[in-house]
Amino acid sequence: MSVTREGRICSFCATPGGPGTDVPLIGGLGAQVCGTCVDDFHATLHDDEAMAASRAFPWDSMSDAEVLAVLPQIMASAEQNQAFAREWVDLLRERKVSWAEIGRTLGVSRQAAWERFARKTGDNGATA
Ligand SMILES: [Zn+2]
Repeated sequence: MSVTREGRICSFCATPGGPGTDVPLIGGLGAQVCGTCVDDFHATLHDDEAMAASRAFPWDSMSDAEVLAVLPQIMASAEQNQAFAREWVDLLRERKVSWAEIGRTLGVSRQAAWERFARKTGDNGATA
């Protein structure tokens, strides 16, 4: 089973964290959040002024360079999420869930699910 928090980043601030680091991460559905972001979000949720300010679009006041600097972080978070989906499919395959059922769950054919997620030697999708 390969679903771990090692080598992950916070999906909100892109700080690397997880086991073996000083940055704790809590995750769900492929997203990870660090302790600092949890604390900041908690404080914001309990402060009406901060909550109102958080509804503004921060990129409106950002320079082009600042917006560009965030793009690799967004891509890293998206790649992390895709990797988590692959790990989750690996988990399902280890549990002998068929490619047909995985495809049905995703609203695609068995073949499409296999083409997107199969990567283990011997998991050719021919039998399940
Ligand atoms: Zn964070």
